[in-house]
Amino acid sequence: MRLENKIVLISGGASGIGAETARRVVREGGKAVVGDRDEEKGRALAAELGPSAAFVPLDVVDEPAWQKAVATTVDTYGALHGLLNAAGIGVRNSIEDCSLEEYRRVNDVNSMGTFLGCKSAIPAMARSGGGSIVNISSVLGLRGASYAMAYCASKGAVRSLTKNVAMHCAQMKYGIRCNSVHPGYIDTPMIAPRLSGTIDNMTGRQWLEALHPLGRLGRAEEVADMILFLLSDESTFSTGSEFVCDGGLTA
Ligand code: NAP
Repeated sequence: MRLENKIVLISGGASGIGAETARRVVREGGKAVVGDRDEEKGRALAAELGPSAAFVPLDVVDEPAWQKAVATTVDTYGALHGLLNAAGIGVRNSIEDCSLEEYRRVNDVNSMGTFLGCKSAIPAMARSGGGSIVNISSVLGLRGASYAMAYCASKGAVRSLTKNVAMHCAQMKYGIRCNSVHPGYIDTPMIAPRLSGTIDNMTGRQWLEALHPLGRLGRAEEVADMILFLLSDESTFSTGSEFVCDGGLTA
């Protein structure tokens, strides 16, 4: 029961890493509010998890929707102790072929969505006595990749935003910590389109696996375990830090 009585709002909670985190939150004695633009999958997950989980429709680029998601969480379970910003989109482009529209779309969801999540949740978390914000960045927020320019830029912004939120909350003595998580390639629906096809005489999957010294893709559960640690009181001296979960990719 590592999250007993902790109430956690998860953006992008209907799929992949967000969904695995919701399952862990409930298994460890907490309450999970799944926010996602995919209502069908989000409601199905909340139903699977029972009375300790609820679904709220949430498009992370929509500020009133964030405010409603926070209010619904507090109305339903009485407080807000944890926020996981997991909603994200991955798009392939280089600095030369990325249009302004595409750059804005990726940065709106990945970076601005995380900004709006932190901004909307902090007052309710402070009133709840503090807690933990976890923002999912990426190894591509730590290093470059010629094929993912807008994504790298958006995830670098998440890394930097996280440190600013951590500093602000510490200065205000809210008792709120904020850390970023940097996964390598994780086998979720996000990367499914990249697993087929051929690159350098390898399948897409083999090519991605070879990037990791451990020789395989990560699993959503492995990232969720790191997030669980950060949401729990096992990490109370960690804030403004980068937690890498990448099978050795950045080493
Ligand atoms: P996923 O399975 O595709 O889950 C992401 C979820 O976010 C989906 O349900 C998606 O809905 C939702 N979403 C997208 N845009 C949204 C929006 N505007 N508002 C609300 N929800 C939205 O992907 P994942 O791999 O679990 O990704 C979770 C996070 O980890 C992302 O931030 C991603 O960038 C990051 N990450 C992933 C990997 C990886 O290799 N998988 C590596 C590093 C970092 P739709 O299905 O409708 O788009």
